[in-house]
Amino acid sequence: MAEAEKVLARAGYVRPPVPIEDIIVDTGLQIQSQPLETNVSGFLIRKDSGAYVGVNSLHHRNRQRFTLAHELGHYILHHDSPTVFVDDALIHFRAETTTTPNDMYEMEANAFAGALLMPESMLRRDLAERYIDAMDEAAVRNMARRYEVSPQALTIRLMRVGLLGGVDPIGPPAQQRKRPPTEF
Ligand SMILES: [Zn+2]
Repeated sequence: MAEAEKVLARAGYVRPPVPIEDIIVDTGLQIQSQPLETNVSGFLIRKDSGAYVGVNSLHHRNRQRFTLAHELGHYILHHDSPTVFVDDALIHFRAETTTTPNDMYEMEANAFAGALLMPESMLRRDLAERYIDAMDEAAVRNMARRYEVSPQALTIRLMRVGLLGGVDPIGPPAQQRKRPPTEF
């Protein structure tokens, strides 16, 4: 996504993990890390006095990073957004089939977060233009560890940029496709 790449280019980061906290602070936002209810990942508050990104300090570190990037996405992309976004945990990996404006915002913020934490240029250099097999859990896990993201977030991102082998872009995993037909 163009906006995420602009942010990265400005910051000059070329290697994972992308230091999301530094980027947020450099953008002029404050970070509030605090315990929140389990189903709340984070939030963005815009005020005349400044903007704040909140993140649930009880969540896994990788998830906190994705939340921070997601909220930064709202801040950069959605100038006409409501004053307050409150995100629950289910929003972050929402299926991309919804059409209401609010869901559009969530999709865009997730895409921004993926592109910021897992830039296509870094992924391509890492993989040397090879695919990563969706069924190779160890490879996905190792790569996710390098980027400090969850394997799930990495899988979605690899699929989006066309670097995930073993799956159709919109079809079921290869393993399911290869299952022999039921015998009657
Ligand atoms: Zn959101």
